[in-house]
Amino acid sequence: MSFDTLGLSAELLRAVADQGYSEPTPVQRQAIPVILQGKDLLAGAQTGTGKTAGFTLPMLQRLSDATPVKGRRPVRALILTPTRELAAQVAESVNTYGRHLSLTSTVIFGGVKINPQIARLRTGVDIVVATPGRLLDHVSQKTLDLSAVEILVLDEADRMLDMGFIRDIRKILALLPKRRQNLLFSATYSNEIRQLADKLLDAPVLIDVALRNIPTELVSQVIHPVDRERKRELLSFMVGSQNWRQVLVFTRTKHGANRLSQQLEKDGISSAAIHGNKSQGARTRALADFKRGEVRVLVATDIAARGLDIDQLPHVVNFELPNVAEDYVHRIGRTGRAGNEGQAVSLVCVDEHKLLGDIERLLKRDISRIVIPGYEPDPSIRAEPIKQRSNGRPGGQTKSRNSRPGQAQAGNRRPPQAKGNAGNRRPVRASRHA
Ligand code: AMP
Repeated sequence: MSFDTLGLSAELLRAVADQGYSEPTPVQRQAIPVILQGKDLLAGAQTGTGKTAGFTLPMLQRLSDATPVKGRRPVRALILTPTRELAAQVAESVNTYGRHLSLTSTVIFGGVKINPQIARLRTGVDIVVATPGRLLDHVSQKTLDLSAVEILVLDEADRMLDMGFIRDIRKILALLPKRRQNLLFSATYSNEIRQLADKLLDAPVLIDVALRNIPTELVSQVIHPVDRERKRELLSFMVGSQNWRQVLVFTRTKHGANRLSQQLEKDGISSAAIHGNKSQGARTRALADFKRGEVRVLVATDIAARGLDIDQLPHVVNFELPNVAEDYVHRIGRTGRAGNEGQAVSLVCVDEHKLLGDIERLLKRDISRIVIPGYEPDPSIRAEPIKQRSNGRPGGQTKSRNSRPGQAQAGNRRPPQAKGNAGNRRPVRASRHA
Protein backbone atom coordinates (compact mmCIF):
# COMPACT_ATOMS: atom_id res chain seq x y z
CA MET A 1 0.00 0.00 0.00
CA SER A 2 1.32 3.46 -0.84
CA PHE A 3 0.72 6.88 0.71
CA ASP A 4 -1.23 8.01 -2.38
CA THR A 5 -4.35 6.11 -1.35
CA LEU A 6 -4.78 7.85 2.01
CA GLY A 7 -6.28 11.09 0.72
CA LEU A 8 -3.27 13.33 1.39
CA SER A 9 -2.61 16.40 -0.75
CA ALA A 10 0.17 16.63 -3.33
CA GLU A 11 2.25 18.93 -1.07
CA LEU A 12 2.14 16.43 1.76
CA LEU A 13 2.88 13.48 -0.49
CA ARG A 14 5.87 15.40 -1.76
CA ALA A 15 7.12 15.96 1.79
CA VAL A 16 6.67 12.26 2.53
CA ALA A 17 8.59 11.36 -0.62
CA ASP A 18 11.35 13.82 0.38
CA GLN A 19 11.74 11.75 3.54
CA GLY A 20 12.13 8.60 1.50
CA TYR A 21 9.15 6.83 3.06
CA SER A 22 7.84 4.29 0.58
CA GLU A 23 4.76 3.09 2.42
CA PRO A 24 2.74 4.13 5.44
CA THR A 25 3.24 2.34 8.76
CA PRO A 26 0.21 0.60 10.33
CA VAL A 27 -0.65 3.56 12.55
CA GLN A 28 -0.41 5.91 9.58
CA ARG A 29 -2.62 3.68 7.44
CA GLN A 30 -5.27 3.62 10.11
CA ALA A 31 -5.04 7.11 11.60
CA ILE A 32 -4.64 9.32 8.53
CA PRO A 33 -8.06 8.67 6.90
CA VAL A 34 -9.84 8.96 10.26
CA ILE A 35 -8.20 12.26 11.12
CA LEU A 36 -8.85 13.63 7.64
CA GLN A 37 -12.55 12.97 8.22
CA GLY A 38 -12.40 15.17 11.30
CA LYS A 39 -13.13 12.38 13.76
CA ASP A 40 -11.76 12.00 17.27
CA LEU A 41 -9.18 9.27 17.70
CA LEU A 42 -7.87 7.08 20.49
CA ALA A 43 -4.69 5.41 19.31
CA GLY A 44 -2.59 2.84 21.11
CA ALA A 45 0.79 3.66 19.61
CA GLN A 46 4.13 4.83 20.84
CA THR A 47 7.41 6.24 19.62
CA GLY A 48 8.85 4.19 16.82
CA THR A 49 5.53 3.36 15.18
CA GLY A 50 5.51 6.42 12.92
CA LYS A 51 2.72 7.96 14.98
CA THR A 52 4.07 11.51 14.64
CA ALA A 53 3.57 11.52 10.89
CA GLY A 54 0.31 9.65 11.55
CA PHE A 55 -1.22 12.68 13.21
CA THR A 56 0.90 15.48 11.74
CA LEU A 57 0.20 14.81 8.06
CA PRO A 58 -3.62 14.83 8.28
CA MET A 59 -3.55 17.70 10.77
CA LEU A 60 -1.52 19.81 8.35
CA GLN A 61 -3.91 18.94 5.57
CA ARG A 62 -7.00 19.93 7.57
CA LEU A 63 -5.43 23.20 8.61
CA SER A 64 -4.35 24.08 5.10
CA ASP A 65 -7.72 23.06 3.60
CA ALA A 66 -9.69 25.44 5.80
CA THR A 67 -10.01 29.05 4.66
CA PRO A 68 -7.07 31.04 5.97
CA VAL A 69 -8.08 33.56 8.57
CA LYS A 70 -7.37 37.17 7.67
CA GLY A 71 -5.22 39.31 9.96
CA ARG A 72 -3.19 37.83 12.78
CA ARG A 73 -3.13 34.05 12.77
CA PRO A 74 -4.66 32.39 15.81
CA VAL A 75 -3.29 29.09 17.14
CA ARG A 76 -5.41 26.44 15.40
CA ALA A 77 -3.68 23.24 16.47
CA LEU A 78 -2.12 22.32 19.79
CA ILE A 79 0.09 19.27 20.34
CA LEU A 80 0.93 18.47 23.95
CA THR A 81 3.84 16.19 24.81
CA PRO A 82 5.26 15.02 28.15
CA THR A 83 8.92 15.88 27.57
CA ARG A 84 10.93 18.66 26.02
CA GLU A 85 12.76 16.21 23.80
CA LEU A 86 9.56 14.82 22.39
CA ALA A 87 8.18 18.35 21.88
CA ALA A 88 11.32 19.28 19.95
CA GLN A 89 11.12 16.15 17.82
CA VAL A 90 7.44 16.59 17.05
CA ALA A 91 8.01 20.24 16.14
CA GLU A 92 10.75 19.16 13.78
CA SER A 93 8.34 16.70 12.17
CA VAL A 94 5.73 19.45 11.78
CA ASN A 95 8.33 21.52 9.94
CA THR A 96 9.49 18.61 7.84
CA TYR A 97 6.06 17.43 6.73
CA GLY A 98 4.75 20.98 6.34
CA ARG A 99 7.68 22.22 4.26
CA HIS A 100 5.63 22.65 1.06
CA LEU A 101 2.75 24.39 2.86
CA SER A 102 2.52 27.92 4.19
CA LEU A 103 1.46 27.01 7.73
CA THR A 104 3.54 28.28 10.64
CA SER A 105 4.46 26.51 13.87
CA THR A 106 6.51 26.84 17.01
CA VAL A 107 7.62 24.78 19.98
CA ILE A 108 7.22 25.79 23.61
CA PHE A 109 8.87 24.12 26.59
CA GLY A 110 10.46 25.07 29.89
CA GLY A 111 14.13 25.19 30.83
CA VAL A 112 14.90 27.82 28.20
CA LYS A 113 14.22 31.59 28.03
CA ILE A 114 10.61 32.54 27.61
CA ASN A 115 11.15 35.80 25.70
CA PRO A 116 12.11 34.30 22.33
CA GLN A 117 9.00 32.13 22.60
CA ILE A 118 6.86 35.20 23.27
CA ALA A 119 8.37 36.98 20.29
CA ARG A 120 7.65 34.01 18.05
CA LEU A 121 4.07 33.68 19.30
CA ARG A 122 3.52 37.38 18.57
CA THR A 123 4.19 36.80 14.91
CA GLY A 124 1.17 34.47 14.81
CA VAL A 125 1.51 30.70 14.51
CA ASP A 126 -0.96 28.07 13.31
CA ILE A 127 0.48 25.14 15.26
CA VAL A 128 1.95 25.02 18.76
CA VAL A 129 3.82 21.99 20.07
CA ALA A 130 4.27 22.28 23.83
CA THR A 131 4.88 20.72 27.20
CA PRO A 132 2.06 21.58 29.60
CA GLY A 133 3.88 23.66 32.25
CA ARG A 134 5.43 26.28 30.01
CA LEU A 135 2.28 26.45 27.92
CA LEU A 136 0.34 27.49 31.02
CA ASP A 137 3.03 30.05 31.88
CA HIS A 138 2.32 31.68 28.53
CA VAL A 139 -1.40 31.58 29.11
CA SER A 140 -1.03 33.27 32.50
CA GLN A 141 1.22 35.92 30.97
CA LYS A 142 -1.38 36.41 28.25
CA THR A 143 1.18 35.72 25.56
CA LEU A 144 -0.84 32.82 24.19
CA ASP A 145 -4.52 32.52 23.35
CA LEU A 146 -5.96 29.04 22.87
CA SER A 147 -9.54 30.04 22.14
CA ALA A 148 -9.33 29.26 18.42
CA VAL A 149 -7.82 25.77 18.66
CA GLU A 150 -9.48 23.38 16.20
CA ILE A 151 -7.33 20.29 16.73
CA LEU A 152 -5.84 19.02 19.99
CA VAL A 153 -3.28 16.20 20.10
CA LEU A 154 -2.23 14.57 23.37
CA ASP A 155 0.91 12.68 22.49
CA GLU A 156 2.14 9.97 24.88
CA ALA A 157 -0.80 10.72 27.13
CA ASP A 158 0.08 7.86 29.48
CA ARG A 159 3.47 9.42 30.17
CA MET A 160 1.88 12.79 30.78
CA LEU A 161 -0.31 11.23 33.44
CA ASP A 162 2.62 9.28 34.92
CA MET A 163 4.53 12.54 35.18
CA GLY A 164 1.69 14.17 37.08
CA PHE A 165 0.44 16.50 34.34
CA ILE A 166 -3.25 15.70 34.74
CA ARG A 167 -4.07 18.98 36.52
CA ASP A 168 -2.25 21.00 33.89
CA ILE A 169 -4.05 19.09 31.16
CA ARG A 170 -7.42 19.84 32.77
CA LYS A 171 -6.54 23.54 32.97
CA ILE A 172 -5.52 23.55 29.32
CA LEU A 173 -8.71 21.75 28.23
CA ALA A 174 -10.75 24.44 29.97
CA LEU A 175 -9.08 27.06 27.77
CA LEU A 176 -9.99 25.40 24.48
CA PRO A 177 -13.18 25.90 22.50
CA LYS A 178 -15.78 23.16 23.06
CA ARG A 179 -15.98 22.22 19.40
CA ARG A 180 -12.71 20.75 18.25
CA GLN A 181 -11.08 17.54 17.05
CA ASN A 182 -9.24 15.52 19.72
CA LEU A 183 -6.53 12.96 19.09
CA LEU A 184 -5.15 10.94 21.97
CA PHE A 185 -2.06 8.77 21.58
CA SER A 186 -1.01 6.45 24.36
CA ALA A 187 1.29 3.42 24.47
CA THR A 188 -0.73 1.85 27.28
CA TYR A 189 -4.33 1.88 28.38
CA SER A 190 -4.74 2.29 32.13
CA ASN A 191 -7.89 3.30 33.99
CA GLU A 192 -6.57 6.86 34.12
CA ILE A 193 -6.22 6.97 30.34
CA ARG A 194 -9.68 5.51 29.95
CA GLN A 195 -11.11 8.25 32.17
CA LEU A 196 -9.26 10.96 30.30
CA ALA A 197 -10.40 9.52 26.97
CA ASP A 198 -14.03 9.35 28.18
CA LYS A 199 -13.94 13.00 29.17
CA LEU A 200 -12.03 14.26 26.19
CA LEU A 201 -13.10 12.29 23.15
CA ASP A 202 -16.36 12.40 21.26
CA ALA A 203 -17.27 9.04 19.66
CA PRO A 204 -13.61 8.26 19.00
CA VAL A 205 -12.33 5.77 16.48
CA LEU A 206 -10.02 3.30 18.23
CA ILE A 207 -6.84 2.04 16.66
CA ASP A 208 -4.19 -0.07 18.24
CA VAL A 209 -0.68 -0.69 17.08
CA ALA A 210 0.99 -0.57 20.48
CA LEU A 211 1.83 -4.23 20.31
CA ARG A 212 4.48 -3.46 17.77
CA ASN A 213 6.83 -2.87 20.62
CA ILE A 214 6.72 -6.39 21.89
CA PRO A 215 10.25 -7.37 20.95
CA THR A 216 10.78 -9.25 17.76
CA GLU A 217 13.41 -11.58 16.56
CA LEU A 218 15.43 -8.55 15.45
CA VAL A 219 16.32 -7.84 19.07
CA SER A 220 18.45 -10.46 20.75
CA GLN A 221 17.88 -10.45 24.48
CA VAL A 222 20.17 -11.80 27.14
CA ILE A 223 20.43 -11.71 30.93
CA HIS A 224 23.82 -11.58 32.60
CA PRO A 225 23.42 -12.54 36.26
CA VAL A 226 25.88 -10.45 38.31
CA ASP A 227 26.27 -9.11 41.83
CA ARG A 228 24.76 -5.71 42.63
CA GLU A 229 28.15 -4.14 43.36
CA ARG A 230 29.85 -5.51 40.26
CA LYS A 231 27.45 -4.29 37.59
CA ARG A 232 29.42 -1.17 36.72
CA GLU A 233 32.63 -3.16 36.39
CA LEU A 234 30.89 -5.69 34.12
CA LEU A 235 29.38 -2.92 31.99
CA SER A 236 32.77 -1.27 31.46
CA PHE A 237 34.25 -4.66 30.63
CA MET A 238 31.57 -5.40 28.05
CA VAL A 239 31.73 -1.96 26.41
CA GLY A 240 35.51 -2.12 26.27
CA SER A 241 36.11 -5.76 25.37
CA GLN A 242 33.40 -5.87 22.71
CA ASN A 243 34.21 -2.39 21.48
CA TRP A 244 30.63 -1.11 21.68
CA ARG A 245 30.55 2.41 20.25
CA GLN A 246 26.99 3.49 20.97
CA VAL A 247 25.18 2.13 24.00
CA LEU A 248 22.01 3.35 25.66
CA VAL A 249 22.02 2.32 29.32
CA PHE A 250 18.98 2.49 31.57
CA THR A 251 18.99 3.11 35.31
CA ARG A 252 16.01 3.39 37.63
CA THR A 253 16.90 6.73 39.19
CA LYS A 254 18.35 10.08 38.16
CA HIS A 255 20.99 9.81 40.87
CA GLY A 256 21.89 6.33 39.66
CA ALA A 257 22.23 7.67 36.10
CA ASN A 258 24.60 10.44 37.21
CA ARG A 259 26.70 8.15 39.36
CA LEU A 260 27.04 5.51 36.67
CA SER A 261 27.95 8.05 34.03
CA GLN A 262 30.67 9.51 36.26
CA GLN A 263 32.05 6.06 37.04
CA LEU A 264 32.18 5.14 33.36
CA GLU A 265 34.11 8.32 32.65
CA LYS A 266 36.60 7.27 35.35
CA ASP A 267 36.91 3.95 33.54
CA GLY A 268 37.86 5.88 30.41
CA ILE A 269 34.53 5.41 28.62
CA SER A 270 32.99 8.66 27.40
CA SER A 271 29.53 8.95 28.86
CA ALA A 272 26.69 11.39 29.56
CA ALA A 273 23.55 11.16 31.67
CA ILE A 274 20.14 12.36 30.53
CA HIS A 275 17.27 12.80 32.97
CA GLY A 276 14.64 15.22 34.16
CA ASN A 277 16.93 17.19 36.52
CA LYS A 278 19.31 18.17 33.75
CA SER A 279 18.94 21.53 32.08
CA GLN A 280 17.49 21.54 28.62
CA GLY A 281 20.84 22.61 27.20
CA ALA A 282 22.62 19.72 28.88
CA ARG A 283 20.04 17.20 27.63
CA THR A 284 20.17 18.46 24.06
CA ARG A 285 23.97 18.49 24.11
CA ALA A 286 24.21 14.97 25.54
CA LEU A 287 21.85 13.60 22.92
CA ALA A 288 23.64 15.38 20.07
CA ASP A 289 27.05 14.15 21.27
CA PHE A 290 25.68 10.62 21.54
CA LYS A 291 24.15 10.73 18.07
CA ARG A 292 27.44 12.03 16.63
CA GLY A 293 29.33 9.20 18.29
CA GLU A 294 31.32 11.48 20.60
CA VAL A 295 29.71 9.96 23.67
CA ARG A 296 29.82 6.17 23.74
CA VAL A 297 27.41 5.54 26.57
CA LEU A 298 24.25 7.53 27.19
CA VAL A 299 22.79 6.73 30.61
CA ALA A 300 19.10 7.51 30.87
CA THR A 301 16.07 7.08 33.09
CA ASP A 302 12.89 5.72 31.53
CA ILE A 303 11.13 9.04 31.35
CA ALA A 304 14.07 10.90 29.84
CA ALA A 305 14.52 8.22 27.20
CA ARG A 306 10.89 8.33 26.21
CA GLY A 307 10.47 9.95 22.84
CA LEU A 308 14.15 9.80 21.90
CA ASP A 309 14.44 8.82 18.31
CA ILE A 310 17.94 7.52 17.83
CA ASP A 311 18.41 5.67 14.59
CA GLN A 312 19.92 2.24 14.45
CA LEU A 313 20.93 1.95 18.07
CA PRO A 314 22.92 -1.28 18.30
CA HIS A 315 23.00 -1.85 22.08
CA VAL A 316 20.59 -1.26 24.92
CA VAL A 317 21.67 -2.21 28.42
CA ASN A 318 19.37 -2.51 31.39
CA PHE A 319 21.81 -1.66 34.13
CA GLU A 320 18.84 -2.04 36.44
CA LEU A 321 15.56 -3.66 35.50
CA PRO A 322 12.58 -1.31 35.44
CA ASN A 323 9.92 -1.45 38.15
CA VAL A 324 7.20 -1.87 35.56
CA ALA A 325 7.57 -4.79 33.17
CA GLU A 326 6.19 -2.83 30.21
CA ASP A 327 9.04 -0.35 30.51
CA TYR A 328 11.38 -3.21 29.66
CA VAL A 329 9.59 -3.53 26.35
CA HIS A 330 9.80 0.23 25.74
CA ARG A 331 13.49 0.22 26.60
CA ILE A 332 14.52 -2.59 24.32
CA GLY A 333 12.30 -1.20 21.57
CA ARG A 334 15.07 1.43 21.20
CA THR A 335 17.16 -1.13 19.39
CA GLY A 336 16.41 -3.41 16.46
CA ARG A 337 14.56 -0.58 14.70
CA ALA A 338 13.80 -0.23 11.06
CA GLY A 339 15.14 -3.62 10.06
CA ASN A 340 18.44 -3.35 11.91
CA GLU A 341 19.51 -5.99 14.36
CA GLY A 342 19.88 -4.96 17.96
CA GLN A 343 21.06 -6.37 21.21
CA ALA A 344 19.39 -5.89 24.59
CA VAL A 345 21.48 -6.89 27.58
CA SER A 346 20.18 -6.91 31.16
CA LEU A 347 22.50 -6.99 34.15
CA VAL A 348 20.42 -8.68 36.83
CA CYS A 349 21.34 -9.04 40.49
CA VAL A 350 19.68 -11.07 43.21
CA ASP A 351 17.39 -8.14 44.21
CA GLU A 352 15.73 -8.15 40.82
CA HIS A 353 14.47 -11.70 40.44
CA LYS A 354 10.86 -10.71 40.98
CA LEU A 355 11.08 -7.92 38.39
CA LEU A 356 12.63 -10.36 35.94
CA GLY A 357 9.78 -12.80 36.56
CA ASP A 358 7.26 -10.03 35.79
CA ILE A 359 9.04 -9.25 32.52
CA GLU A 360 9.17 -12.86 31.41
CA ARG A 361 5.48 -13.28 32.22
CA LEU A 362 4.67 -10.25 30.07
CA LEU A 363 6.82 -11.54 27.20
CA LYS A 364 5.47 -15.06 27.67
CA ARG A 365 8.96 -16.45 27.31
CA ASP A 366 12.19 -16.91 29.23
CA ILE A 367 15.19 -14.79 28.39
CA SER A 368 18.44 -16.72 28.20
CA ARG A 369 20.90 -16.31 31.07
CA ILE A 370 24.60 -16.22 30.39
CA VAL A 371 27.05 -15.87 33.25
CA ILE A 372 30.15 -13.96 32.18
CA PRO A 373 33.30 -15.76 33.40
CA GLY A 374 34.85 -13.76 36.22
CA TYR A 375 31.49 -12.19 37.13
CA GLU A 376 29.74 -15.22 38.61
CA PRO A 377 27.23 -14.11 41.26
CA ASP A 378 28.18 -14.86 44.86
CA PRO A 379 25.41 -17.18 46.13
CA SER A 380 25.86 -15.99 49.72
CA ILE A 381 24.61 -12.46 48.87
CA ARG A 382 21.01 -11.94 49.99
CA ALA A 383 18.38 -9.93 48.15
CA GLU A 384 17.77 -6.38 49.39
CA PRO A 385 14.71 -4.21 48.81
CA ILE A 386 15.05 -2.02 45.73
CA LYS A 387 15.33 1.74 46.39
CA GLN A 388 12.85 3.49 44.17
CA ARG A 389 14.07 7.05 44.35
CA SER A 390 17.38 8.82 44.48
CA ASN A 391 16.19 10.77 47.52
CA GLY A 392 15.00 7.68 49.37
CA ARG A 393 11.28 8.41 49.08
CA PRO A 394 9.28 5.49 47.81
CA GLY A 395 7.87 5.96 44.37
CA GLY A 396 10.57 6.85 41.86
CA GLN A 397 9.86 8.64 38.64
CA THR A 398 6.96 6.45 37.76
CA LYS A 399 4.96 8.12 40.48
CA SER A 400 1.45 7.04 39.84
CA ARG A 401 2.39 3.50 39.02
CA ASN A 402 4.52 2.92 42.05
CA SER A 403 1.75 4.16 44.27
CA ARG A 404 0.35 0.65 43.92
CA PRO A 405 3.28 -1.44 45.07
CA GLY A 406 3.28 -5.10 44.24
CA GLN A 407 0.35 -4.86 41.86
CA ALA A 408 0.50 -6.85 38.63
CA GLN A 409 0.95 -3.69 36.61
CA ALA A 410 1.16 -5.08 33.15
CA GLY A 411 -2.31 -6.55 33.28
CA ASN A 412 -3.75 -3.13 34.10
CA ARG A 413 -2.13 -1.41 31.21
CA ARG A 414 -3.66 -3.00 28.22
CA PRO A 415 -3.80 -1.02 25.05
CA PRO A 416 -7.19 -0.32 23.49
CA GLN A 417 -8.94 -3.22 21.81
CA ALA A 418 -6.55 -5.80 23.24
CA LYS A 419 -8.97 -6.75 25.98
CA GLY A 420 -8.62 -10.33 27.06
CA ASN A 421 -6.79 -11.23 23.93
CA ALA A 422 -3.55 -12.63 25.18
CA GLY A 423 -2.84 -13.99 21.74
CA ASN A 424 -2.26 -10.44 20.54
CA ARG A 425 0.83 -10.16 22.67
CA ARG A 426 2.97 -12.03 20.22
CA PRO A 427 5.83 -10.45 18.38
CA VAL A 428 4.33 -8.49 15.52
CA ARG A 429 6.91 -8.61 12.82
CA ALA A 430 4.97 -6.93 10.07
CA SER A 431 4.45 -3.69 11.93
CA ARG A 432 8.01 -3.01 12.95
CA HIS A 433 9.04 -0.87 10.05
CA ALA A 434 8.45 2.50 11.66
P1 AMP B 1 7.65 8.16 15.48
O1 AMP B 1 6.97 6.90 15.95
O2 AMP B 1 6.69 9.16 15.01
O3 AMP B 1 8.58 8.67 16.54
O4 AMP B 1 8.54 7.79 14.20
C1 AMP B 1 9.62 6.91 14.29
C2 AMP B 1 10.56 7.03 13.10
O5 AMP B 1 9.96 6.48 11.94
C3 AMP B 1 10.95 8.44 12.73
O6 AMP B 1 12.35 8.46 12.57
C4 AMP B 1 10.27 8.70 11.40
O7 AMP B 1 11.05 9.55 10.59
C5 AMP B 1 10.17 7.31 10.81
N1 AMP B 1 9.00 7.13 9.92
C6 AMP B 1 7.77 7.65 10.07
N2 AMP B 1 6.95 7.22 9.09
C7 AMP B 1 7.66 6.39 8.31
C8 AMP B 1 7.36 5.63 7.12
N3 AMP B 1 6.15 5.62 6.59
N4 AMP B 1 8.36 4.91 6.58
C9 AMP B 1 9.59 4.89 7.14
N5 AMP B 1 9.94 5.58 8.24
C10 AMP B 1 8.98 6.33 8.83
